[in-house]
Amino acid sequence: MSLFDSLRDLLPGTARPKRRTPVAAKPKPLLPPPEAITVDHAGVPLVVMFERSAKARRVSLRVDQRSGRVRLVAPPRMARETALGFARAQAAWIHGRTLRQSPPVPFADGAVIPLFDTPHVVRHRPDRRGTVWIEDGALHVAGRAEHLSRRLHDWLAGELRARVSTLAHAKAARIDRKVTRITVRDTATQWGSCARAGGLSFSTRLIFAPTMVVDYVVAHEVAHLVHANHGPQFWALTTKLTDGDVAACRAWLRRNGERLMRLG
Ligand SMILES: [Zn+2]
Repeated sequence: MSLFDSLRDLLPGTARPKRRTPVAAKPKPLLPPPEAITVDHAGVPLVVMFERSAKARRVSLRVDQRSGRVRLVAPPRMARETALGFARAQAAWIHGRTLRQSPPVPFADGAVIPLFDTPHVVRHRPDRRGTVWIEDGALHVAGRAEHLSRRLHDWLAGELRARVSTLAHAKAARIDRKVTRITVRDTATQWGSCARAGGLSFSTRLIFAPTMVVDYVVAHEVAHLVHANHGPQFWALTTKLTDGDVAACRAWLRRNGERLMRLG
């Protein structure tokens, strides 16, 4: 399941200019660096990064996963005014997205991060040996400050792997399938994926999601062991393998997915 799929659903599709017939291959144009532009929305200036992309067939607005920044991406040869006009026409949408942005939360002493269902405060413990442990509802991280973020990321990835492994093997057993391999990766584009040979991969960022949502994502990937598509039978199996409500879990990911990308 792709995070971009869900983002695409949110983009205003109707106001896009019509796609033009692609021009014949010419030498690659040298693309200018991204440029910050402002778009006015009822007197409120909104900052948007204007970029050219050789891959872009038409102009579009995208939201950067990590920074939450809105990007205006245009084909190399599109008139600047056409691209900017598109952004101006979508000012209300950009404004809405900007309001929804939460600032990044770097891992540091005092940061509050959700761990499955519960918020935890990060406590740096330079005086202590060891790695990471939970004590009195806080996440304690030993060692030097410059290693805190890395240590916490590694520990969280291990916790998530343990959780999804248990769930995946149990769900696969229910449908008589085998999970051959579990990988957790810090991926910004997918919550999970399923390879043909039975290997499942999950985004480490699921550790910040409610357990109900993690359960759904695992059920989704396990269901792909049977159906390599998103057809009605696939969804019926996913629903059977999910403890909670599939629609509610999907809605939660659509609403909160980007926020999970800005932690750490
Ligand atoms: Zn899928």
